[in-house]
Amino acid sequence: MEISNLITRARVLIPAALMLVTLNSFSQQVQETPEIKRPEVLYKQVHSSTLSKQSENLFADGLKLKLDLSVLDDAEAEREFFNPDDIPADDVYGGMWENRYVNMYGSLKSAPDSFIVDLDNFTMPVDGRMTSNFGRRGSRRYHYGIDIKAQTGDTIYAAFDGKVRVKRYEGNGYGYYLVIRHLNGLETVYGHLSKFLVEENDYVESGKPIGLAGNTGRSFGSHLHFETRFLGKPINPNFIIDFPSKSVHKEEYLVTNSSYRKTNNSSRAIIASSSPDRPSTAARVSNTESTNKFVSGEVQYHRIQKGDTLGAISKKYGTSVNSLCNLNNINSRTVLRVGKSIRVS
Ligand SMILES: [Zn+2]
Repeated sequence: MEISNLITRARVLIPAALMLVTLNSFSQQVQETPEIKRPEVLYKQVHSSTLSKQSENLFADGLKLKLDLSVLDDAEAEREFFNPDDIPADDVYGGMWENRYVNMYGSLKSAPDSFIVDLDNFTMPVDGRMTSNFGRRGSRRYHYGIDIKAQTGDTIYAAFDGKVRVKRYEGNGYGYYLVIRHLNGLETVYGHLSKFLVEENDYVESGKPIGLAGNTGRSFGSHLHFETRFLGKPINPNFIIDFPSKSVHKEEYLVTNSSYRKTNNSSRAIIASSSPDRPSTAARVSNTESTNKFVSGEVQYHRIQKGDTLGAISKKYGTSVNSLCNLNNINSRTVLRVGKSIRVS
């Protein structure tokens, strides 16, 4: 928990630090930046031993964080430009943007048959285990999200880059909750919060603290209720996120009609936690939608660790570099990104 607190603070302090550093390194920024992902950035923030005197001075509250600011600069440069005044995924949502309802799209006729969601830069909204799954809850109710254990006061993070669409209270349901429309077209819902850290229409980057966990609304024990939706309709978050490994299954998710299928399983069927020496795979998912091949285990993934190479991964899974490249639509020189998952079967 201490580390995540540090990271939270670092995120707040970094923009100021970047401004200073940018002035100095402005003339050297022409070179192409390598692809660097969030987990690696966080790793470097915490573990880098190089701390420039200059940035040290910025931490007036005495916080001594070892930051490799160049890495954050690179991550920032990798982001596509988005004007915070614009509506995210405006084209697919047909200009619809309001601040009252989770699902406001009932009348939208122009929904695409399929839509590719870019899952870059995912952040697990809170660091906890799943306590309730997407699925049937009793005979009459349905649980359209995932519950993740969290203590009241734990920081909740934006899952992807986006803009806060709804910030409201619903006493019989979500309690204090937020809906974020992401640039990738998904919307995510964060329920039962104890405190908001953002305002309506705020632009938030993935990993930005947006609220604190709580026990408000229809909730018994503090936790985060988390939903993923597209055009207002709930999608089983397990199709997109591998909760045991706290990462996304793939770099992209294809939304089709089958994305909205309801499982018949009980919300009490919890996904087993992953063991560190086994590859991250959806194969150990118990009792979930077996007709989705990404959940049923026909498809297997490996979560990329520091030092992994395509050669080593192919050996480990008894496959070839060539077939790994084909499966993932990459080539043998593609940079593997720590924390991302690569399909191995
Ligand atoms: Zn829930």
